[in-house]
Amino acid sequence: MKTSSLIRMSTLYAPTLKEDPAEAELVSHRLMLRAGMIRKTASGVYSFLPLAWRVIRKVEDIVRDEMDGIGAQEMLLPILTPGELWHESGRWDKYGPELMRIKDRHERDFCLGPTHEETVTDLVRNELKSYKQLPVTLYQIQTKFRDELRPRFGLMRGREFIMKDGYSFSATQESLQEIYDDMGEAYARVCSRCGLKALPVAADTGQIGGSASVEYMALADAGEADLVWCDCGFAADTEAASVGIRVEEGPGSGELEKVETPNCGTIASVAAFFGGPESATRKALALFDSPGRPVVAIIPGDHDMNDVKAEHAFGEGYRMMTDDELVELGLHKGSMGPVNLPAGVRLVADVALRDSNSWLVGANEPGYHFVGARPGRDFDVQEWIDISGAREGDLCPKCGKPLHQARGIECGQIFQLGTKYSEALGATFVDENGEEHPLIMGCYGIGVTRVVAAIIEQHNDENGIVWPVAVAPYEVSVIPLTVGDDTIAPAAERIAPELAEGGGAGVLDDRKERPGVKFADSDLMGFPFQVIAGKKALAQGKVELKDRASGERTLVDVDQVVDRVAGLVKAGRQARA
Ligand code: ATP
Ligand code: MG
Repeated sequence: MKTSSLIRMSTLYAPTLKEDPAEAELVSHRLMLRAGMIRKTASGVYSFLPLAWRVIRKVEDIVRDEMDGIGAQEMLLPILTPGELWHESGRWDKYGPELMRIKDRHERDFCLGPTHEETVTDLVRNELKSYKQLPVTLYQIQTKFRDELRPRFGLMRGREFIMKDGYSFSATQESLQEIYDDMGEAYARVCSRCGLKALPVAADTGQIGGSASVEYMALADAGEADLVWCDCGFAADTEAASVGIRVEEGPGSGELEKVETPNCGTIASVAAFFGGPESATRKALALFDSPGRPVVAIIPGDHDMNDVKAEHAFGEGYRMMTDDELVELGLHKGSMGPVNLPAGVRLVADVALRDSNSWLVGANEPGYHFVGARPGRDFDVQEWIDISGAREGDLCPKCGKPLHQARGIECGQIFQLGTKYSEALGATFVDENGEEHPLIMGCYGIGVTRVVAAIIEQHNDENGIVWPVAVAPYEVSVIPLTVGDDTIAPAAERIAPELAEGGGAGVLDDRKERPGVKFADSDLMGFPFQVIAGKKALAQGKVELKDRASGERTLVDVDQVVDRVAGLVKAGRQARA
């Protein structure tokens, strides 16, 4: 993008809002609406106004620079995707209602691409045929469509959004690993060049499938992802983390003993009744696994079952039992446990409990608990599985230290796909010995529009957005305090184009507005630097230079302000979070 340009505020199409829009929960959503950056066209579908579009293009350029830098080649695949390809991969049925499906005039199935593994694999299957042509990494920056169940938070979770998606094709696992590692480093650089404090976290491989995967999480309370991280560098999505869980032994002598526990229907009340921590209790959950068999699962009392881990353990269609179903099976809400389970109910427990020999558990009898229940003696666990979500204080699987918990915004994700799609679509190559193998693939996505929202989540204050220089729509605004004045206006008119020439794109606030209104708008739109031209300072040959992030104002000689700002912009573009 041309970086030096100038626009007059009087002509800038950025309809600002004075009031906070009621529908916006997240600060990024609110500020983008208020600063006139975006408008909703339909649920989860947004128009990007000029300021937003400039930021999006800058993020895209950073992504491009990093992708080109590791030898990936930009291209563009069609959004409109023939259903046949999705039938071939088996995802037409599997992907579910998130896939935007349409029919053409001949009643043929199409979808609007939510991701492009099928399309790109189809593209290369007839042309990448020899090991000599490999590896190849292709990428595109394109609008994607996902009919999200709950589109929300503005650009954070849209039904139409911009993504960079990349795909690699290798002849060997080593080659895939190399590209995957390069991608990981490039992703980390994209985040930090965009001003994002982000962590690479081990991820569940979910819908796309495959083996290794890392997500790049921008740390923010507004994030929808839960993660745990350690000072040693380990970080993982709570749903993917296999961590150490400290469990306390329950009370009692170790002998099985039934205790009357009136009004103890919750973990908190049981813990309080026995005067111990919740980690000394055991939580029992009743569910039907995917074939529909009844299961009781026991986990440490101070943890929750993680839905993604549960899907792995019990199948995608598993569901918790309703109160009526509990009664039907002879189970009692509030006093479920592993001892004396009704016949036909499968018993599983979290691996964290395997070495614990004295469990405080419901007695499967209303108003009673057992203390001292012991696996192997008082009940049999049919399977030990990892189903608890990791949380603050659990132990790092790498170094054993207690983990921190945080929320994150998933900005990007990289996957080692292996041969899942190449096998399904018959994309093969011939090796040195003339043998045919499926291509070994990786896929790599960054949500460009989500990154923009994440940047705002990390860079804002009570007055508005505080853009990092590298992604600011304009780096500087020039604010003449009065417009009609015969010294101020000419000075501003002279400085603004020079600033633009000097390397910083600028806005000249030529509106006949009070200074307060101009300051408020420049702050709201988040331009990193403001050059304020007022009568008193100009009389001494000076203007004020305000730094948006620190709020600091300094007086600068009029002749020096262009160089000063150019230097700040240059340094800002090189800054890393
Ligand atoms: P999520 O778990 O948040 O739904 P995902 O894991 O399904 O995302 P990927 O398939 O990994 O998403 O897509 C790559 C990137 O595209 C994500 O890391 C995210 O930045 C972005 N992205 C995915 N879904 C959306 C969406 N609905 N709106 C905006 N960006 C999105
Ligand atoms: Mg993802």
